Amino acid sequence: MEDCIFCKIVRGEIPCDKVLENDRVLAFRDIAPKAPVHVVIVPKAHLGDILECADKANGLSINLIEAAAAVARAEGVDATGFRLVVNTGKDGGQSVGHLHFHLLGGAHLADTL
Ligand code: 5GP
Ligand code: ZN
Repeated sequence: MEDCIFCKIVRGEIPCDKVLENDRVLAFRDIAPKAPVHVVIVPKAHLGDILECADKANGLSINLIEAAAAVARAEGVDATGFRLVVNTGKDGGQSVGHLHFHLLGGAHLADTL
């Protein structure tokens, strides 16, 4: 998508601090981290949200989950724990309209969501 920030990052038009990349998924550090480890995991193809991803039913959801696990291990938070967040839509607080998982860890996170 032409004007999508995360598509621009995927295309290399906006720089990012890359953590993991494969043919379908890119993971990079959030520009405004909310935890010591805060990585954003996105599909390279533009999908608006998790609903669109599920509707396509092309295995990408699994690719994203597997990438999240790999990021957790690479960032050393697999043993200490982490949180995966997928903000969706207006009430979910989604500010970028390209599906993304937040992986947060590296410190004890707030006990409430
Ligand atoms: P959302 O609020 O949609 O769940 O999360 C969007 C996230 O993208 C925010 O945490 C925000 O800091 C991050 N973000 C927005 N623009 C950029 C950018 O240009 N680069 C990076 N690395 N992160 C971004
Ligand atoms: Zn996009």
